[in-house]
Amino acid sequence: MDLAYTQEEQEFRARLRAWLGKVLPELPARPSPDDWPGRRAYDLGWQRRLYEAGYAGLHWPVDAGGRGATPTQHLIFLEETERAGAPYVGANFVGLLHAGPTIAAEGTARQRARWLPPVLRGEEVWCQGFSEPDAGSDLASLRTRAVRDGDAYVITGSKIWTSHAEVADWCELLVRTDAEAPKHRGISWLAMPMDAPGVTVRPLRTLAGSTEFAEVFLDEVRVPVANRVGAENDGWRVTMVTLSFERGTAFVGEVVACRRTLGELARTAKANGRWDDAVLRRRLGRLYGEFGALWRLTQWNVSESERSGGVPGIGGSVFKLAYSHARQELYEVAAQVLGPLSLSLEEEWTLDRLSSLSYTIAAGTSQIQRNIVAERILGLPKGR
Ligand SMILES: Cc1cc2nc3c(=O)[nH]c(=O)nc-3n(C[C@H](O)[C@H](O)[C@H](O)COP(=O)(O)OP(=O)(O)OC[C@H]3O[C@@H](n4cnc5c(N)ncnc54)[C@H](O)[C@@H]3O)c2cc1C
Repeated sequence: MDLAYTQEEQEFRARLRAWLGKVLPELPARPSPDDWPGRRAYDLGWQRRLYEAGYAGLHWPVDAGGRGATPTQHLIFLEETERAGAPYVGANFVGLLHAGPTIAAEGTARQRARWLPPVLRGEEVWCQGFSEPDAGSDLASLRTRAVRDGDAYVITGSKIWTSHAEVADWCELLVRTDAEAPKHRGISWLAMPMDAPGVTVRPLRTLAGSTEFAEVFLDEVRVPVANRVGAENDGWRVTMVTLSFERGTAFVGEVVACRRTLGELARTAKANGRWDDAVLRRRLGRLYGEFGALWRLTQWNVSESERSGGVPGIGGSVFKLAYSHARQELYEVAAQVLGPLSLSLEEEWTLDRLSSLSYTIAAGTSQIQRNIVAERILGLPKGR
């Protein structure tokens, strides 16, 4: 990737900045973090505005309804939206950042036409039904089973930690379609409507008090065979595509957000006197360097994925590992800057600090990312 911006890229940035300057002041107030229906409406509303202005699915391929923008334009988009304080992708996370890209890469023309436009237009929300109570890190040992009955699968089992399940229309669901096959070879990837009879969602309350995720129980749920993405029992390969998007590019925008927070921390510390603490200043400086390096790593990963046909590689695990730890440290520093106020749940940084604890678990734990880096990048021998 050429890290100098072309004339065209600079014009793209200027147009986007002007548009953001116009639309952001018109946005309604953000709903409270606990109000999931309100958050869904807010996030979809923002997505619709992006769609109408031609900024939705900027980096998706043109034949999937996207703009086919270059990786650099996509990164400019992330930088400018974050810099301007535009809404976060929120409830659209799964649809826009990994289910959608998976369907764009692996789905049939009919599947792409059915599922991708409503994601881009801000009409449908997706969730991810991968984890199960007895199969988290060891995802391939999942037990939710799907038995073929005519042109449908009949699904029974349960999922856990399903983010946005309460407000989702669709679920990217992993099921076992062949109980006899070796565990990686009997899995299929399905799109399941969340309003299908037999689906029960039971929200779980997090440390920060929000019902961000839920348990999902599946009792003889019928899902058309036509909703399967990829071949029957080839779901593990499709899942690797989904996870490479999730770890490789889904958190990219958040790096920019962290850099913005870092600036705000420094300003607050100067205002409340904590800036005099040399240890705190050193920590802020080191984090500044770290997030700068993560942004460079992001540019490298995105540009590599472009060269390899649009699917991010396992470099995403390096990013995910480093990013989730840097993010936790960022909010530890925020607590230092806030002082006693860091105990108040009214403070946004306190809630962010609580949620940052989950970053080394969600989307694959740090231990698992280390295993991936050790075995698949460094070529070290596999553990037992
Ligand atoms: C905020 C949040 C949102 C989430 N959203 C979703 C979602 O939307 N959809 C979804 O499907 N899932 C979701 N998850 C689940 C997440 O993917 C799992 O929690 C994660 O994969 C870990 O699985 P587990 O919780 O079962 O832990 P376990 O697999 O039981 O792991 C427990 C501990 O053992 C370690 N460990 C396990 N195996 C190994 C090994 N081989 N080598 C070294 N260490 C190992 C783990 O790293 C961990 O520290 C979410 C999780 C969080 C925290």
